[in-house]
Amino acid sequence: MPSQLGPAPPATSAAVAKSMRGNQAKDTAPELELRRLLRAAGYPGYRLHWKKAPGHPDIAFPGRKVAIFVNGCYWHRCSLCEPPMPKSNVEFWSRKFELNIERDARKTAALVEAGWRVVIVWECELKADSSCVLQRIQGVLDARYSPSCSLM
Ligand SMILES: [Zn+2]
Repeated sequence: MPSQLGPAPPATSAAVAKSMRGNQAKDTAPELELRRLLRAAGYPGYRLHWKKAPGHPDIAFPGRKVAIFVNGCYWHRCSLCEPPMPKSNVEFWSRKFELNIERDARKTAALVEAGWRVVIVWECELKADSSCVLQRIQGVLDARYSPSCSLM
């Protein structure tokens, strides 16, 4: 296991403080938005941070074994929009982001291992085209489970 990081260095600006508070928060704005979309599309049967699913995904459909993670681009280092790195305490934040990415990969691997299908939704995708994101998720939710087919 990676060693624990010490406490976060003090925020250097109000904006940094705001995004630091957003780290690993539950019920983030993108999560709420996606849950609203899923309910509106007729998929109300999800569990939030379900303890019985490996990695406690943000949204889980236990019957269909579909897990959805709604990733904040900044904290999970989105490769679609490539958010800027912090300008101070670079070493601390690089390590912190690395641990986040490793944790994400472990969670996905554990879920796939247990027979779940995993969908990663990025905050910027939801902002850019939420109906496209919903279609992608519907495709996974409605597809028959096929063990040889791993969808990301
Ligand atoms: Zn992004």
